[in-house]
Amino acid sequence: MANTHRFDYSRFVVQPGKKLHLADHDPSYTAGIADKEAAKESLLEDVSQLAAMQDVFWASKRYAMIIIFQAMDAAGKDSTIRHVMSGVNPQGVNVYSFKAPTEEERLRHFLWRPMRVLPAAGTIAIFNRSYYEEVLVVRVHPSYLETQPLTTTERGQGLGHIWQSRYADIACFEKMLCEENTLVLKFFLNVSRKEQRKRFLERLENHEKNWKFSMMDLKERALWDDYQQAYEEMLAATSTEAAPWYIIPADRKWFTRACVADIITSRLRSLHLQYPKVPANEAAALEEAKRQLQAEKNGDDS
Ligand code: ATP
Ligand code: MG
Repeated sequence: MANTHRFDYSRFVVQPGKKLHLADHDPSYTAGIADKEAAKESLLEDVSQLAAMQDVFWASKRYAMIIIFQAMDAAGKDSTIRHVMSGVNPQGVNVYSFKAPTEEERLRHFLWRPMRVLPAAGTIAIFNRSYYEEVLVVRVHPSYLETQPLTTTERGQGLGHIWQSRYADIACFEKMLCEENTLVLKFFLNVSRKEQRKRFLERLENHEKNWKFSMMDLKERALWDDYQQAYEEMLAATSTEAAPWYIIPADRKWFTRACVADIITSRLRSLHLQYPKVPANEAAALEEAKRQLQAEKNGDDS
C-alpha cells in the first residue's frame, strides 16, 4: 500500500477558535471503507509502520510525543490504545490513566498531573483521559471545584471565568511543549448516545464484561447533553495549529482504530527522522571492533 495516509482526516480536525457543533460530526462515518476486514488491513499496515518509526523515534531522541484520548464512557479508548500501540517497543511508551485526582493532586495546579509525567525525548506518553477532565467532568459537576484551592478572585469571578482561564492555561502549556519539541496529538472519540447504550448493555449481558460496568456510568450518561456542550466548547477553545483536536468517529471500533493509527503514523512520518549517524572519528573504532569480532574463530574465542 502507498506510503501516504489513507483517510482525508482534515475533516476531523477542529478549526481553532471556530464555533463547533458536534451534531455536524457523524459518529458512524467510515470514510467509504466497506467493512471491518478492509479497515483491518489498513490498521495492520500502520501498526507495523508505527513500530518501525517508533524505533527511529526512540533512537534519535529528538522529539517526545503526548497522545491524548478523551471520550464519553465506552467510546473505545482502552481498546484503541491496545490495538494501535500493539507493535511498539514498550520501553519507549508509557500509558497514564487520569482517574479522579488524589488529594495530593487536587491541592495543586491542575497541570501538575501531566507535568509530573512529561515524556522524555525519544518516548511517547499516552494519556487515557487527561488534564482536560478539569474542563469536562468538573464543568459538568461544578461542585468538584469546592474541594480545589481556587483563589478568592477566581471564586468571585464565577464559573465562566474559571473555564476560560483553564482553556488559556492549557493552550499556554501545550504551546510551551510544542516549542520544546514535544508533539501533542489529541483525539476525541466521538461515540453516539445510541451506541453507548448498546455497549453498556453488552457489558451487562456478558459476564466477562461485567467488570467494565460501573453504576457511575449510568449517572454520567444521564448528563449526556451537559457533556456534549462541555466538549463542544472545550474542543473549539483548545484546538490550535500546533496541537489540534481530532474528532474521530467512534461508533465503528474498527474505523476508530484504523483512523487513529493512520494519524499517528502520518505525524511521525512527517518528522523525517533518521537513526543517529556515528561521527567520522568513531567510525574507525567501529571498523576495528568489527575486525576483532570477525577474527574470532567460530564466534568462540575460548
Ligand atoms: P473505563 O473505560 O475503564 O470505564 P475510565 O477512563 O472511564 O475507563 P474510570 O475509572 O471508570 O475510568 O473513571 C475515571 C473517572 O475519573 C471518570 O469518571 C473521570 O471523569 C474521572 N476523573 C478524571 N479526572 C478527573 C478530575 N480531574 N476530576 C474529577 N474526576 C475526574
Ligand atoms: Mg468509566
